Amino acid sequence: MKPACPRLPELGAEATHEYRLGIMGGTFDPIHYGHLVTAEQAREALALDLVLFMPAGRPAFKQDADVTDAEDRYAMTVLATAANPAFDASRFEIDREGVTYTIDTLRALRARYPDNVKLFFITGADAILDLVTWHNAEQMAELATFIAATRPGYDIEQARSRVVASGVPFDVRYIEIPALAISSTNIRQRVREQKSVRYLTSESVIGYIRKNGLYNVHKVERVEGTQVGE
Ligand code: NAP
Repeated sequence: MKPACPRLPELGAEATHEYRLGIMGGTFDPIHYGHLVTAEQAREALALDLVLFMPAGRPAFKQDADVTDAEDRYAMTVLATAANPAFDASRFEIDREGVTYTIDTLRALRARYPDNVKLFFITGADAILDLVTWHNAEQMAELATFIAATRPGYDIEQARSRVVASGVPFDVRYIEIPALAISSTNIRQRVREQKSVRYLTSESVIGYIRKNGLYNVHKVERVEGTQVGE
């Protein structure tokens, strides 16, 4: 099996040191600055050693939805995270057959790395709200701390009480991320409408979207020099 962390295949080998691994879970269709800011602030707030961006292969709650090819979403994730030495991108979920369940990822990472590697699963608060309905919720609660990124104005208390009411002892930390006003849905729509997405995601990701004609951008238009996504 390939290493989950390409840069650090021997993660946690130094047994005297606690290693705090963030796993940034998402569809990343496409990845944007909201995700990058979330990962950076989670890294700082929870003293994470590394944040591993993990594009979902076949997202569990989107099986009927039109999701961009996993290789494209992974490639954009690699481009967007390349400049930060504390970030890495993983093929772990896109290389796994079948529906992507977070429990499978956490179990595999737990089995692969020694106990001094602590796992922190980071994702959007809206996704975390439904945590208890995820596959094998109780075991997930044992394997990782969860970090829920919220947009400003998000009702954290309501989210907290819903998780508590589930009776599953999840450890969830909430962090407010103003940059999460950016959303992948909005970026896809703007690209479709040939509006600017500059400053919503990196130039490298914008270039990839254009070059590969993602989100209904027709290659012919690009070749003819249509200003898409600028
Ligand atoms: P989603 O429902 O598409 O996202 C919900 C909200 O959270 C959206 O506003 C989304 O904004 C935001 N979001 C998603 N990922 C984020 C991240 N890493 N950081 C900050 N905001 C984020 O969620 P999803 O992408 O399908 O799933 C999120 C993660 O949860 C994935 O790793 C997925 O595998 C996992 N999950 C697992 C199960 C399960 O195991 N049964 C079920 C559901 C989800 P954007 O659209 O802008 O990203």
